[in-house]
Amino acid sequence: MCDANPDVLIVGGGVMGLSCAWRLAQRGARTTILEENRCGHGASRAALGALWPSPLARAGPLQNLQRASLWNFESFVRELRSVSGLCVDYRRPGKLEFLNSPRALENARCQVAAAIAGWPAPDSGQVMEILNRDQVLAIEPRLIVAPHGAQFCRWSAQVEVEQILAALVAACRLAGVTIREGCHVDQIETANGRACGARMGVDRLAAGKVLLCAGVGTRLPGLSHAAEHPIVPVKGQALRLRAAGVLIGHVVKNGPIFLVPWPDGRILVGSTTEPEAGFDTTNTAAGVQTLLHGAVEICPELKTAVLERIWAGLRPAGPGNRPLMGRVGGVENLFICAGHYKIGIGMAPLAAALMADLILTGKTPYDISEFAPT
Ligand SMILES: Cc1cc2nc3c(=O)[nH]c(=O)nc-3n(C[C@H](O)[C@H](O)[C@H](O)COP(=O)(O)OP(=O)(O)OC[C@H]3O[C@@H](n4cnc5c(N)ncnc54)[C@H](O)[C@@H]3O)c2cc1C
Repeated sequence: MCDANPDVLIVGGGVMGLSCAWRLAQRGARTTILEENRCGHGASRAALGALWPSPLARAGPLQNLQRASLWNFESFVRELRSVSGLCVDYRRPGKLEFLNSPRALENARCQVAAAIAGWPAPDSGQVMEILNRDQVLAIEPRLIVAPHGAQFCRWSAQVEVEQILAALVAACRLAGVTIREGCHVDQIETANGRACGARMGVDRLAAGKVLLCAGVGTRLPGLSHAAEHPIVPVKGQALRLRAAGVLIGHVVKNGPIFLVPWPDGRILVGSTTEPEAGFDTTNTAAGVQTLLHGAVEICPELKTAVLERIWAGLRPAGPGNRPLMGRVGGVENLFICAGHYKIGIGMAPLAAALMADLILTGKTPYDISEFAPT
């Protein structure tokens, strides 16, 4: 027989597990997180905290959800700060994305028109515009600007990832969430076609409902009911530079390389995309070289910056790089929220609210049936 303590058991304490736990506990559900390592030490800690809205060219339910999450990110941060009492740095400097070809310029023109028509207006200026080389240099004099200028998106923001994770842990605890770290889940337990708890070695914990937020671990054979769901790891390498002063104020993107600057001189440089690397999380000479070369190509003065840190993480990628969010078919009371690939930090506020709705009421204000694991 299954007892019902806690109401919801969450496997995995990354940004998704923590955000879902916080929202569930705020709504009265007794919630426990089982985390095999330490909370936030999976993909979430590897993220750069860049928050830019999905381009409109890639319209679809996922892009709509991601943007809806970002429009409310600042209020999510404000709530977290006030509940946790911790500092969570967030700024919205806007993003300059280099336009390296006439085709990129043409695409950018369509993006701008669609963004102006469909996105909320920012506090000042246009939501998106195209800046020519001189206009870019007027606001970022240290960049080597692409021939066709840059697309400037005022909605692009950034959050300090370690701080938001620490604040989520604190907010969860204050809301009454039990967090068990160093606790590897081998098996989701079921009885009569319903999930009823988890097994950790010889230990077990019964629960009313189970939510899988185990990132790339969601596909491990031990979590047998999720084994068919192909969440795959996509390695990403990143690094942090520290310049003597403030060289860059905006997020800058040139092809796959992007810079996320902080006013204290730190510049985060992301990121490689290495699906072939499997579960490997080492930094390679080639990966670091690509990032350094890309960064210096954007801003030559970064040559003298201090290389403070290098790291790699595994983005959890769902089928077609889309997340799985919903009930797991065939097993009652088993849910999944994983596979958010490159946008998990930005999607966490809305994904958590939707999962809490689904788990507690069976309904969501947005249709997320597209993301349900079959
Ligand atoms: C280099 C890099 C840069 C990125 N930059 C950005 C960015 O700028 N903006 C953005 O929005 N996103 C970014 N991302 C993506 C983002 O990091 C992920 O989408 C997000 O962190 C996924 O969160 P998660 O909670 O689903 O997974 P995770 O953070 O991986 O959490 C899953 C947790 O489950 C635990 N776990 C796994 N298996 C088990 C088990 N069997 N038992 C118990 N616990 C288990 C793990 O230890 C882990 O803590 C980046 C990712 C990388 C790698």
